Amino acid sequence: MADFGLIEAGGTKFVLGIADETRTIHARHQIPTTTPAETLGTAVAWFRDQGLIPEAIGIASFGPLDLNRASPTWGQITRTPKPHWTGADLIAPFTKAFACPVALDTDVNGAALSEYRWGAGVGHQSLLYLTIGTGIGGGFVSAGGHGGTLLHGLSHPEMGHIRIARHPQDQNYPGFCPFHGDCLEGLVAGPAVKGRWDASLSDLPTDHPAHAIIAWYIGQAICTFQAIMEPARIVLGGGVMHAPGLIEMVRESAVSWGGGYFTGDPAGIIVPPALGDNAGLLGALALVLDEEG
Ligand code: ZN
Repeated sequence: MADFGLIEAGGTKFVLGIADETRTIHARHQIPTTTPAETLGTAVAWFRDQGLIPEAIGIASFGPLDLNRASPTWGQITRTPKPHWTGADLIAPFTKAFACPVALDTDVNGAALSEYRWGAGVGHQSLLYLTIGTGIGGGFVSAGGHGGTLLHGLSHPEMGHIRIARHPQDQNYPGFCPFHGDCLEGLVAGPAVKGRWDASLSDLPTDHPAHAIIAWYIGQAICTFQAIMEPARIVLGGGVMHAPGLIEMVRESAVSWGGGYFTGDPAGIIVPPALGDNAGLLGALALVLDEEG
C-alpha cells in the first residue's frame, strides 16, 4: 500500500506523519517551528530516517499561501508577520528530496476537507470550517469532485478578514490586525481577547461579559457566511472555541443575527470538530489524496 508523508505546518510546531489511504497513521513526530531551512530540513531528515519512499507528500500549512500554480511564487508563504517565513518555499525541499508530487493548502482548508469527508460533514452536502484561535480562517467544501471540492479564488479564502459591526460595549479596542485593525480576526482571535481582558476566554469566569461579546461577533460572522454559502454544517474549531459554553452562546447569537431567514438553523448546524488529535494530519492526507485524484 502506498505511503504518504504528511505535514501539519503550524506557526509554533510542525507535526509530521506517515499514513496510507486507509487513514492509518503509522508514525508521527513533532518538531518546533524555527527557521524555514532548519524546520523543513529536519522534516526531510525525519521522513528519511523512517525509511519513507512517499507516493506523495501533503502539507496543511499556516498561511497566507500562494496557491496559484501559474505564479512564480507558487507554494510560498506570503506576507506573514512571522519572522523568517515570508517567501519561504514549502514545496521545493520535498520535491528535491523525494521527487514526488507535493499537495499544499492551508491548515483550515485541510481541516475543512477532512471534516467534510470523515468527520462532522459526513452525510451533508456542504461544510464550512472556521478556526478561531491565534488567527481566524475559514474553508468551505461543497459536493463534487472525488469527495468534496474546496472553494478557491486567486488563492485560499481569507474569511477572518471580513468587516464586522462593533459591539455597543466594545467601542474602544482598535483591533490587532496589521492590515485592517478591527476586522473579524482583529476583534475576535486569541490576541484580541488577551489585548482587551488580559486573559484567554477559557481563563475568564463564565459570567464575564467577554464571552457574550465574542459570541456576538462570531454569530454575526456566521450570519454573513450563511448569506454567502448557506453551509449544511458549520464546524467551529480553534483554541478560542475551547472556552466552556461558548459554542452554545454562538448558536444563540447566530440565530438572533439570522432572523430565521436562512436555510439551515444555526442551533442545529453549528457543531464542534468531530476528528480528534489527528485532525491536522488527516487534513494533510485529504489534500494529498485529492492531488492523487
Ligand atoms: Zn484583517
